[in-house]
Amino acid sequence: MTDTAANFIARSTVKAEDLDHRRKINFNIGRYNAVVPQGKQQFEDLNLARERAKNIKWRALENLDKQLEEFEAIFTQRGGKVVWAENTETALAEILSICKEKNCRTIVKSKSMVTEEIKLNHFLEENGIESVETDLGEYIQQLDGEPPYHIVTPAMHKSKEDVAKLFHEKLHTKPDLTPEQLTLVARERLRKKYVQAEIGITGANFIISDIGGIAVTENEGNARLSAAFPKTHIVIAGLEKVIPSLTDLGLFWPLLATFGTGQRLTVYNTLITGPRQPGETDGPVDMILILLDNGRTNILANEKARESLYCIRCGACLNACPIYKNIGGHSYGTTYSGPIGAVITPHLKEMGDWKHLSYASSLCGNCTEVCAVKINLHELLLENRHEAVEEGYSTWSERVAWKVWKKASLSRNIMNMGNQNMKNWIVNKAFKAWTAHRDGLDFSPRTFNQQWKAAREG
Ligand code: SF4
Repeated sequence: MTDTAANFIARSTVKAEDLDHRRKINFNIGRYNAVVPQGKQQFEDLNLARERAKNIKWRALENLDKQLEEFEAIFTQRGGKVVWAENTETALAEILSICKEKNCRTIVKSKSMVTEEIKLNHFLEENGIESVETDLGEYIQQLDGEPPYHIVTPAMHKSKEDVAKLFHEKLHTKPDLTPEQLTLVARERLRKKYVQAEIGITGANFIISDIGGIAVTENEGNARLSAAFPKTHIVIAGLEKVIPSLTDLGLFWPLLATFGTGQRLTVYNTLITGPRQPGETDGPVDMILILLDNGRTNILANEKARESLYCIRCGACLNACPIYKNIGGHSYGTTYSGPIGAVITPHLKEMGDWKHLSYASSLCGNCTEVCAVKINLHELLLENRHEAVEEGYSTWSERVAWKVWKKASLSRNIMNMGNQNMKNWIVNKAFKAWTAHRDGLDFSPRTFNQQWKAAREG
């Protein structure tokens, strides 16, 4: 077993037994489940809307080179700059070089999973640059020294009491502040940072080819401030974020809002098409888009896994997943957790090191059922398992166990051999890893043949 798999099992084992954690997650996911059906009512034909969104992403990804070149041509005409970053190192080196050029000491940053992927905050800190998270959930996580727990709701695992305690410890506020008071504390501290910062960094929910612009969706207005206040705006986005046209947002904005948080539309939806233009009074002087590959073209090259690039990061599959709800976001040990994380991580990183995530699924199909863009997530999990075996990542004992299981289950004679006690003993000994955390398997006292015969006679 690899270290990554062993760590995953160790963390999951602890979290699965943590009833306090489960209570908080169930509470927060319960609130999500209560509002999503209301948001869905805005669609006359929800299934068709999801289907259309999937088709648009399919078209965008099948023509990715042309879409991105079209975007770049228009964006650069308006004074923007595009950096094609093949991997984390290139992206970080580019950001550092911009920081040096701009003599940057402080960065304000809005929520972005891609910046988590390249461990940007840690890198900036190492280089003596302060990077301040301005999304409230991310701010809480940064104060606590933890990565985001969920791709949409970074501090989902914390109760309001946890946050009040954290602010008390780190910011010396009163220990019993209400959520409104806590938000005001964060707001007061962050407002100063927008004015100080030389650079603002945001992600992009969509890269729009036909207008050469990006769309950013948020509920707090902090991304808008991060993009508009500092003189330089850096956007970091995965190259799969592309959609062909501005008109596609008419579908994607409501879908993302409803599947992400149950809203009909997220509060702030901003389109940015380049730096400040002559005659304009605000906006950054420079705008640079870092287009990150970092393994995404591996997924693009894989015909089956390709559709995982359609993901709009709404987080619905995480909220629906029985595994995620029990082990939580941090157990995965990856930037992207839950079903979509389990699908893409082995391709973004190493199949051998991360294949275990594709086994952390009951294959109930709930993730596929709720996906905003109808990605066949549970089938892709199976596909990953298949690829892992094809690529030789299964162990000898695993291969032998499955061979024996296959032979036995295809033969009635073998299945009818022995009595209940004997079968229970053999199977529960052979599946020791299973019974370490679960009840043992309990065979029926009578075989299937015996039951069938009795039913026909009786
Ligand atoms: S895979 Fe689907 S449900 Fe999961 S985050 Fe992406 S779009 Fe949302």
